[in-house]
Amino acid sequence: MDLSNFLREIEELIGRNNVIREGHELSVFRRDWWSLLMLRETLGHGLNLPPAIVRPVDVKDVIGVVKLANKYGVCLVPYGGGSSVVGGAYHDDCVVIDMGRLNRILEFSGEDLTITVEAGAKVVDVERWLNERGYTLDYHPQSFQLLTIGGAIAHGGTGSHSMSNIDELVLAFDVVLPSGELITIGPGRFVRVSWPDLRGLFMGSDGALGIIVRAMLRVRPLANYYVDLAYVFKDLEDAVRFARDLVINVPGPHRVVIHDRDSSRLMVGEDGVIALIRARWHNEDLVNTVSGVVNNLAINHSAASAEPGLIRRWRDAFARSYESQLIMLTQSGLWVDTIDMATTWSRLVRLHDELVSRLKSIDGVYQVLSRITHLYLNGASLYSVVVFRQDEDVYWRVWREAFNVASGVGATISHHHGTGLLKREFVKAEMGSQWNLLRSIKELLDRDNTMNRGKLIW
Ligand SMILES: Cc1cc2nc3c(=O)[nH]c(=O)nc-3n(C[C@H](O)[C@H](O)[C@H](O)COP(=O)(O)OP(=O)(O)OC[C@H]3O[C@@H](n4cnc5c(N)ncnc54)[C@H](O)[C@@H]3O)c2cc1C
Repeated sequence: MDLSNFLREIEELIGRNNVIREGHELSVFRRDWWSLLMLRETLGHGLNLPPAIVRPVDVKDVIGVVKLANKYGVCLVPYGGGSSVVGGAYHDDCVVIDMGRLNRILEFSGEDLTITVEAGAKVVDVERWLNERGYTLDYHPQSFQLLTIGGAIAHGGTGSHSMSNIDELVLAFDVVLPSGELITIGPGRFVRVSWPDLRGLFMGSDGALGIIVRAMLRVRPLANYYVDLAYVFKDLEDAVRFARDLVINVPGPHRVVIHDRDSSRLMVGEDGVIALIRARWHNEDLVNTVSGVVNNLAINHSAASAEPGLIRRWRDAFARSYESQLIMLTQSGLWVDTIDMATTWSRLVRLHDELVSRLKSIDGVYQVLSRITHLYLNGASLYSVVVFRQDEDVYWRVWREAFNVASGVGATISHHHGTGLLKREFVKAEMGSQWNLLRSIKELLDRDNTMNRGKLIW
């Protein structure tokens, strides 16, 4: 890798101010939000700084950077909001390409319900812009303030507070391939096509197949009518049956979260399994009708309506910032990570029960708090917060055991957080022979392994 000549030419191409070789700004990009890297820092192990940061301001710059990276054998790591929790945006001694300046809104059509934005645009900014005009992306991950559109696509994310997945929103995107060629992927304004849809190849690709520079997304008019409903079930099994019936009987999107007993107790002090449902549509009659249907389904599954203060307590608990909770844990000598799984209805309770009991049996694990966050016709996702001793060995035992449980039950361990460095071995095993096909595609597109080396495909 001829870094110095690469940087010299890059400075000529995009300007000195857009290349960082030293100083405090380098350290801002030393890691993403991967819990392991944060743990290492907390334990006093310093992290390497990236060799350099390059900051393209437009698509032409991105193409130039990629071409020069090829010329000088330099590896690149695309960096959006840096909120990856799997080390996807960790530099790993490669040059970081910060996408933050490609943040413009390019086109909006209220009639067609589409918006086209640059990939480094923050979701929070796009949403604010849309809300001012009466529209929404309806994409609300917990990292809403941090993440970018490109990062959400590259990690195959979901809005856990809105139930929309990024793949349901993206109509098309432009990608700079590792060769430097710019290509449009997806049906875009054709809405739907019968030729092979290549969006899936890049969604969840960790930026290992190219850099997403623009995306065309679906938007909706803001729905002003909503009702929040909350129920307490005596066990998770009843709550899961209720969720399955809800998916069958109520039109989506389904804004539902179900906390297991431990999580309910800690979040809102409730001794039971709580389910919170938001019925939100454009029509008040529909909201009322759906509320009635949901209520009957809950009663059929022996649920009691929660007391009125529960929804407020739940909102207050979620309003506490992740950072402040992390600081509290750190000061108590504890650490935390989150595991995003999914499986079919018939396996869901077993997945939960085995995960909780096997993780709790690891010396150094103190809490496993789980919730069901996304409902599909065939199953649902299970999201677990694991609290453990500040110890890297415990960290890896947790992840290996979680993977053993997932593969034993028949679940994924990668529902929405992407793969990155953390899950690459697990995802390879999970994908089976599909991984070999992906590897062949990577070799075809990126023979010199320029793009996000070592993540997802290695
Ligand atoms: C507190 C917290 C809560 C979270 N909650 C959720 C949640 O509810 N739902 C959820 O899905 N995720 C959640 N996450 C994880 C994270 O926010 C997502 O993975 C998010 O999609 C990452 O977006 P980003 O812009 O921060 O990307 P980054 O972290 O910068 O990058 C993510 C990956 O995408 C690649 N990449 C970035 N930009 C591009 C681009 N333009 N082209 C190609 N590749 C690119 C990077 O190389 C990396 O592999 C949470 C994270 C935190 C810290």
